[in-house]
Amino acid sequence: MRTAIGVDLGGSHVTAAVVTEDGTIHQQHEKDLEDLQFDKVIAALEETIGAALKAAGNATGIGIGSPGNIDAASGAVLYSPNFGWQNEPLGAALRSRFGVPVYVANDARCATLGEYTFGTGKGTKDFVLLTLGTGIGGGIVAGGELLLGNRWGAGEIGHHQIRPTDGFVCGCTKIGCFEAQASGTGLIRHAFAVASSFPRSALLDVARDKLSSKKIRKAAQAGDGHALAAWRNFTGDLAIGLANIIAFVNPQTIALGGGVSTAGDFMLDAVRPLVETLTTMVPRGTTNIVVASLGNDAGQVGAATMALKGGLTAAVAVAV
Ligand SMILES: [Zn+2]
Repeated sequence: MRTAIGVDLGGSHVTAAVVTEDGTIHQQHEKDLEDLQFDKVIAALEETIGAALKAAGNATGIGIGSPGNIDAASGAVLYSPNFGWQNEPLGAALRSRFGVPVYVANDARCATLGEYTFGTGKGTKDFVLLTLGTGIGGGIVAGGELLLGNRWGAGEIGHHQIRPTDGFVCGCTKIGCFEAQASGTGLIRHAFAVASSFPRSALLDVARDKLSSKKIRKAAQAGDGHALAAWRNFTGDLAIGLANIIAFVNPQTIALGGGVSTAGDFMLDAVRPLVETLTTMVPRGTTNIVVASLGNDAGQVGAATMALKGGLTAAVAVAV
């Protein structure tokens, strides 16, 4: 069975996994990132990828998922606000060091490819993955192909505006982006937005910067009034974004990943009827909304899949 190295490059650490072509992760090599300067990150990638390659023995290639707008043909990071990078030749820097092909793509697109190939997208042709974490990452598969866009920007679902007049300010500077309203961070913002109505709320016992989406979610599941008010506003905004996605691409399945999605049926039962109400021209009930099954592994599995396929899609010629 063929093997590839799948790398998940995050803002705090890098993980290089040995992945076989059946989507199984056999080993993971991790390193914390203390310095996000390009040279330092390259050094951390070399170390973890080198260890994974040694363990794999014989790897077909290396796939790397990185935050930001990535030219998947050249492997250059065109723009990554998380790292403060512009036009950094990530793929080229690593290609010169390893004797196998290196592919680089946006991390959320890689996770989409992983979940599509081996998770809840398996067997579908039209699929969307959304990861609800600090932000909202996403990817769209239409007609069996991952959408990349004219300049690698397709799938930036987190930055379509759903509340441009009354929403929270997004990290991208726009108001009311889907990400600002319906990510884990969005849930926290909703809790603060309704806090004045709940002066004795247990959620406010912790320091402001310690209130987590997990705490709010668990309190909502336990019936806490403040948490439920935040949760209701959060799921309302989530439903708006999901209905928009259905109007754009009418996928067979939308999978929700990331920390918030561990709420499972508690989240799905709230969101599904709202989405139905907001689905008008597209036949209702033709998109399944489910919880993603690969969790944090999706990025590594998808990056390795990209390396085994020779690129994100068959249609894109890639420098190796
Ligand atoms: Zn935004």
